[in-house]
This record gives sequence, structure tokens and C-alpha cells, in this order.
Amino acid sequence: KACWRCSHTRLFSATRVCSSTMTAWVIEKYGSNEVLRFSKDAPFPVINYPNEVIVKVFAAGLNPIDVSMRGGHGAATFSMQRDPLNVLQSGSEFPLILGREVSGTIMECGLDVKYFREGDEVNLRNLFTSHVCLVSHKPKSMTHTEAAGVPYVATTVWSALVNTGGLTEDNCATKRILVLGGSGGVGTFAIQLLKAWGAHVTVTCSRDAQQLVGALGADCVVDYTAGPVKDQLEALGGKFDLILDTIGGQTEHWAPGLLKPWSGSTYITLVTPFVHNADVLGVADGMVKTAALWTSRVFKHIAKGVHYRWGFFAASGPALDEIGALVQAGQIQAVVEETFNFPRVPEAFQRMEKGHARGKTVVQIT
Ligand code: NDP
Repeated sequence: KACWRCSHTRLFSATRVCSSTMTAWVIEKYGSNEVLRFSKDAPFPVINYPNEVIVKVFAAGLNPIDVSMRGGHGAATFSMQRDPLNVLQSGSEFPLILGREVSGTIMECGLDVKYFREGDEVNLRNLFTSHVCLVSHKPKSMTHTEAAGVPYVATTVWSALVNTGGLTEDNCATKRILVLGGSGGVGTFAIQLLKAWGAHVTVTCSRDAQQLVGALGADCVVDYTAGPVKDQLEALGGKFDLILDTIGGQTEHWAPGLLKPWSGSTYITLVTPFVHNADVLGVADGMVKTAALWTSRVFKHIAKGVHYRWGFFAASGPALDEIGALVQAGQIQAVVEETFNFPRVPEAFQRMEKGHARGKTVVQIT
């Protein structure tokens, strides 16, 4: 669907302390956790285009990519987005505010913004480059803390399953789906969306997460720490129509073999080499290498009767609206594992670095 209320935003952070500055956690170079610095004078965003809004952020969700970006992952790709003509000096992205999804209220609207009004409660996924940002009304049944953990994983799952995998509310009921890695931010959301649409869902996770994913609706749960996961999945009997892989690495060598061949079945992995290749080789050479890799894998799998795809996050306000309706209907809930208040942002990053997530980590700003 086209999103007619698409609004560029320049936001993320915290509270305004005067008209031109705000408090925020920033980094001024890439590195480990000590590069995070609390700033009272981060530049306050301004509305540059009539379809922009400014959002006062009450809570922000963290994702593995925020930790990676703190260390410089994606610097080449995001710098190209910020500065496509490459006219700015190296390091011009600093001070950089990390974070990719928030919940808050609209503070100011550009002149063309009709869909939102000041004071509306919204959640959204933002890009710092401001090229795309799609905002959705926050589901009323969710707190800001809960809503902040939804946009990035929800629109990633939507993009992978709906746009890439071709799943819809109407065609899911007959499908057997495998989610590799069901206990993290993406997995816990994917299970719920698939169950809301009536699919049969099999999930892999660690032993201690079995109860969590079962409570979210998973029909079959396989403990990947209990022995070769491929054998366990084969022992269940029956092949899959679609696999969503949030783990990557070795899984891609064996998982497509669990799909029903020659029936339109699809393996979608979220762990793709695009950003890494751009970091190592530069954007242009990285794209060439990535395209060659993608093509070879797609054709290798087509020869075996299954589709091989990469899934990517794609911002979508309409998707968030549809997800909001499922939330309001009680079919999807936020899975927030741990919250940290604003002064504890470095601890929140440390929590993310430990891994073994059971849902989302959220920072409460106010
Ligand atoms: P999280 O860190 O929230 O969750 C990862 C989960 O996987 C944890 O619960 C972990 O628990 C579990 N896990 C680890 N190893 C295995 C395994 N071998 N089998 C089953 N489960 C395992 O990450 P997210 O859910 O947020 O993201 C998942 C992946 O998707 C990340 O690599 C992320 O970068 C990628 N992603 C890609 C996007 C894109 O646009 N392409 C967008 C969003 C995410 P435990 O270790 O205890 O088992």
C-alpha cells in the first residue's frame, strides 16, 4: 500500500531543555560502550519539509543493530544515505544518536501533515537520514514502553513475511511455518503475527525459552540446544511452506532442505551480508559482491524447487496500523523483557550485548 501520510522526521531523543537543544545519549566516535556520552545540548530537530513531524519520545526500543552501529557497523551504508553525493567530511555523522524505534507524542507538525495532530500518541521507526519515516498511531491498549518495542521488529517481520514471503491473513491458515530463533525480538513478534493469521507455527529456541514461545502460541517448539536441530525438526514429520530464519550462518546450509519442494515454498533469512560487505569493500563493490552472492544462492535453490530470499526491514505506517489493530484485538502483545530508565542507557546496551534476549529491551525516557 502507498503511504500517503509519509512524514520525514528528525527525532529520537529526549526532552527539550531550550529551543535549540535537548538531552540525548550520543556517540562521537565508534567503539565499545564507553563511547556513549550523555549530552544536554544535542541539537534539537527542526522541521525542514512540510510533511515532517517532531516527536517527543517517551520510550525507545533497542535492537541488536544499535549495538553493532555503536561499533561502526553500517557506517558506509548509512553515510551514503545521509550524504549521497559524498560532499561532507568523514565523521560528519557525529554526534550520532543511536536508536531505531520509539513511542511518544507529536510535538510539532509540518504544514502538510493532516493525518496527525500535536499531542497524538504515536509509535514509529525512524531513520536518522530522514529519507523515510512512517508514523502510526500508538495502539491505545499499549503503554509507551510496550509500543516502543514494536515498530522495528514488527515492520521487519511484516516486510519479510508479507512483502517477501507473500503471506496474508487469508492464505496463512493452510501453511506450516518454521521460525528459526523464536525467543528474541523478531521471533516473539513473528510467532504472534503468524498465529493471529492461523498458520501452524514451529519454533526453535533454547530450553529456557520454550515456555515463553509456547505461551505466544507456537504449535511445536524445538530446543536447539538438545541435539542436532535439523534432525529434531525432521523427526516432527512434514515439511514447511515457509521458513523465517533469524539466526543465519550454518542454518542456511540445511534449513531450505526442510521446505516442501516444487510447491512455491520459501526460505527467508534476515541475516544478510549486504551491510557487512559495504563496510568492508565500500558501498559500490559491496553491492556488486552482494548481488553476485544473492543471485548464485537464488539459482542454486531454484534448481532444488524452493525459493531463497533475503528479508529486510521496511518502514511502513500502514503495516503498523494493521498490526495496531491486531494489538487492539488482543491478538498480539508486546514482549518486553527488561526496561532501563534514561540515565541507564549504557546498561541497556550491555544487556543487548549479552544476547539471549527474551523479547525486547526498552529505554524509558520519561
Ligand atoms: P535478538 O537478539 O532479540 O534475539 C535473538 C534470539 O535468538 C535470542 O532469543 C537467542 O536466544 C536466540 N538464538 C540464538 N541462537 C539461536 C539458535 N541457534 N537457534 C535458535 N535461537 C537462537 O535478535 P532479533 O530477534 O532482534 O534479531 C534477530 C536477527 O535478525 C539479528 O541477527 C538481526 O540483526 C536480524 N535482523 C535483520 C533485519 C534486516 O533488515 N535484515 C532487521 C531486524 C533484525 P538464546 O541465545 O538464549 O538461544
